[in-house]
Amino acid sequence: MTERVVLAAAAMALAASSAYACEMKDDSAYTAAIRKATTEAYFSTELVDHLPWNSCVPAPDTYLGHIIGAPDVLDHVEQINGYMRLLASRSPRVRVFSMGTSEEGREMILVAIADEATIQNLDQYRQITARLADPRGLSETEAQALIQQGKPIYWADGSIHSPESGSPEMLMELAYRLAVEETPLIQTVRKNSIVLLTPVIETDGRDRFVDVYMYGKHHPDAMPYPLVWWGHYVSHDNNRDGITLSLALSKNVTKTYLDWHATVMHDLHESIPYLYISTGTGPYNAWLDPIVSSEWQRLAYYEVEELTRRGVVGVWTHGFYDGWAPNYLIWAATGHNAIGRFYETFGNRGADTQVRTLPANSTSREWFRPNPPLAKVKWSARDNINLQQSGLLLGLYNVASHGQEYLQNFYLKSRRAVDKARTEGPAAWVLPGDDARAGDQAVLLNVLRSQGIEISRADKAFSAAVPNVESAAIGGPAKAAEEKKAADKPKDASTTTTVKFPAGSYVIRMDQPYSRLADTLLDTQYFSTKDPRPYDDTGWTLGALANVKTVRVTDTSVLDIPMAKLTGEIRAAGGMQGAGHTTYLVNNNADSALATFRFRLANVAMEAAEEPFEAEGRKFNRGTFVIANADRGQIEGTARDLGISVFATDAKLSVARHALEAPRVALLHDWTSTQQDGWFRITLDQLKIPYTYLADTKVRETGNLREQFDVVIVPPFVRDLASAVQGLPMQGGHAMPWKSTPETPSFGASGLDSSEDIRGGLGYSGLASLERFVREGGLLVAVGESAALPVEGGMTRAVSLRPSQKLVCPGDVLLAGVEDAKSPIAYGYGEKLYLYYSENPILNVSLGFGGGGEDSASRSSGRGSATDPDVIQGRPYAAPEKQPKRTPREKELYVPEEARAYAGWRIPPANELPRVIVRFAEVGNLLVSGLLDGGSELAEKPAVVDVPHGQGHIVLFSNNPMWRNETSGSYFLLFNAIMNYRHLDAGNRRKAD
Ligand SMILES: [Zn+2]
Repeated sequence: MTERVVLAAAAMALAASSAYACEMKDDSAYTAAIRKATTEAYFSTELVDHLPWNSCVPAPDTYLGHIIGAPDVLDHVEQINGYMRLLASRSPRVRVFSMGTSEEGREMILVAIADEATIQNLDQYRQITARLADPRGLSETEAQALIQQGKPIYWADGSIHSPESGSPEMLMELAYRLAVEETPLIQTVRKNSIVLLTPVIETDGRDRFVDVYMYGKHHPDAMPYPLVWWGHYVSHDNNRDGITLSLALSKNVTKTYLDWHATVMHDLHESIPYLYISTGTGPYNAWLDPIVSSEWQRLAYYEVEELTRRGVVGVWTHGFYDGWAPNYLIWAATGHNAIGRFYETFGNRGADTQVRTLPANSTSREWFRPNPPLAKVKWSARDNINLQQSGLLLGLYNVASHGQEYLQNFYLKSRRAVDKARTEGPAAWVLPGDDARAGDQAVLLNVLRSQGIEISRADKAFSAAVPNVESAAIGGPAKAAEEKKAADKPKDASTTTTVKFPAGSYVIRMDQPYSRLADTLLDTQYFSTKDPRPYDDTGWTLGALANVKTVRVTDTSVLDIPMAKLTGEIRAAGGMQGAGHTTYLVNNNADSALATFRFRLANVAMEAAEEPFEAEGRKFNRGTFVIANADRGQIEGTARDLGISVFATDAKLSVARHALEAPRVALLHDWTSTQQDGWFRITLDQLKIPYTYLADTKVRETGNLREQFDVVIVPPFVRDLASAVQGLPMQGGHAMPWKSTPETPSFGASGLDSSEDIRGGLGYSGLASLERFVREGGLLVAVGESAALPVEGGMTRAVSLRPSQKLVCPGDVLLAGVEDAKSPIAYGYGEKLYLYYSENPILNVSLGFGGGGEDSASRSSGRGSATDPDVIQGRPYAAPEKQPKRTPREKELYVPEEARAYAGWRIPPANELPRVIVRFAEVGNLLVSGLLDGGSELAEKPAVVDVPHGQGHIVLFSNNPMWRNETSGSYFLLFNAIMNYRHLDAGNRRKAD
């Protein structure tokens, strides 16, 4: 925008404001109601203890029928969005934009507020921040001119977490106040900045929470409902979707961020007392520009000081959350060179006024909390509104008053991100064009694209130097050989090896504005045991978790090779090759799209090859799909659509094979917490794998599950056997239905479940049903803690769950190896794979006879060293029996010969022995990314175990194969198990014996 345009716009605005002659006075009734609803003067400020009345613009109470922060009432999304649109229709200082809809079709909105001139020229201001966000080709003079013309954009958003219910209410009052009030503070905000407000981030969860809350108000004697589904898929974890953006809210927020480039983004949470202002304790994410950590402190301390000056009690910073993982919603800003921050105010889980008592650890005086909360206060919804709104107004004022400094920082961070390729490095990340898993590679690249990261493609082959450290190349079946090569060289980042990349390789240049986000997502993470306990996942390396190869290239010559920036969606090339007409072969490379292919062609008979084989000189992996006598057009069309390569041949195949099924899958859930199953649902829905969402209460009432299902998946929500049997306890005296009614209009939704009574859990009959289901040939898959259901339920022999004693592994990427490559569960995988693991119980396989002298390293105290023989005095030396070196598997199955005679009954027959398919790596190689301490407890322990039971199988996962949509490299372990559920004994030597 030229200077002339700005001046012309200002003149127009002046004309508009003179037409804006509205009567103003104090809204005495509203003001009185605020004071009544505020429990203590020190829970308010002069900024929010009143409301002006305006003859042109209606205050919230005239539309809602209550003041903001009134006791015992909350509003649905329709009312909130309706009020914001009413404001926009009455005030030239307000505009409303749609951000898109939620999974269930509820709208997310963006409310823009500024003075009239600014509102009329929003597009020009957006163009300024967009140009500063991508300073490539911008001269320093041009940049400084834009910074002078521009305005900082401050985006505050409410209620990402549905029970944290005050902020959507508060944001309505804030919008009104910003639009009409004429104090110097408000005028400064309106004139010198652009305020964006999104009143509700999680719109589906908001409506359901309001239903639950208002139902409780209308039926005070009834058992309170749990908020079974917050959003459509996940609960609190909707604020952990910032990496893969798999939820509608994350997509809408990120897209909106990239449209506006807000200088600051501010989430409003409600949990701890009374107002925590984020900086976090660190360790801060190490890929970010250090400028942002100063900005976090600067913003936080201004608000702490200003509120403390006003006598507000319990406003503090620092001692909560770390700032490490890039998976929060605020990473829409933080990951794009802006400032993401948040508040935690003391929530009410509704709008009750209650006496609240606090434990000593919340009320102690600390350096970061010199004015701590009180041990006991009466706390109201309005108190929460007052603190949120006062803090936010001060934050808005601070940024508006220093707008050019914040824009300058934003520009500088953006420019230094572009410089990164040549200053701190790396120069680029390269994803080779010949990755065996082109489908999951494309998915990963599209995730990066949805984050605004540019992907380029090199048409020709090229070479580049990569550092000789093991973490330089991550993921992918091709890694093992190269690692061996690299291991021969010193592990020193300053020495390099030249690597050849084929034509068609993808290049993610680090001389682009969002290089830091790409680098943090693809790199490996080291979280020191010396740091404070982490707040969330410590490792997330996307290439490893996707089983896709990513190479960190430090050689800046890679920036000069010919490449083209890709603009559209990236798709794996698929289709048919070969001239045959009788047999179609789909190589099993564990690419997730293969499962979609199988289920889309559910009516087409397919087989799985039990051994690797060759056809017309081509090599095919174990598990390859073999399709005979099918409709060529149908196979080819589906393959092209899904990016899958099919080879058509007339070669006669002699390889052993079995039926590959598209079975009837059930996904178990309970009625207390659906978050874990939500991550499974979102992945299954994305890949279009059909399933029935099956309630624990339904299982209890279904004697013959096998009639309806082939596979039951239990995501990791079962805390222990007792909680699964009990479920939502059978109490309260009458049924608790979960369905849409006039009182609870948001309970039902397509894709969710309903019930006439959600109480009672699995019960003993449900547990028996599941056991019978497996015995009659079904497959039960139990993930993580849910392994307790079959293990403690007595369905598996020689398997136990051990709680960890010293293991610290709070969300890591770990290395594992395929131990039983002939198991169908491992089809398509190489020797190594990378798993997401987070302090689940440790799977233990043992026949209970010890490991056969495994502890031979320790000796009795005596002369010499730890390895010297123990020479007992007064008799001739007798050498001890030499202990044979046993593999972990041999230790697990160890039976001393003599035991067969006295305890044969303890040894299951060979065909019931648990089969370890995937095993965690030895302790020295276990950690790929994250914080790991006490790793020896997990090292070489089973990760995936297949246990035969009756005619069926139980497959236990110690890792989580469907975590936050990040673990596509593990999905196929689960899909293989599902599609081969009737033939999991294939390749089992013991069974054949
Ligand atoms: Zn929250």
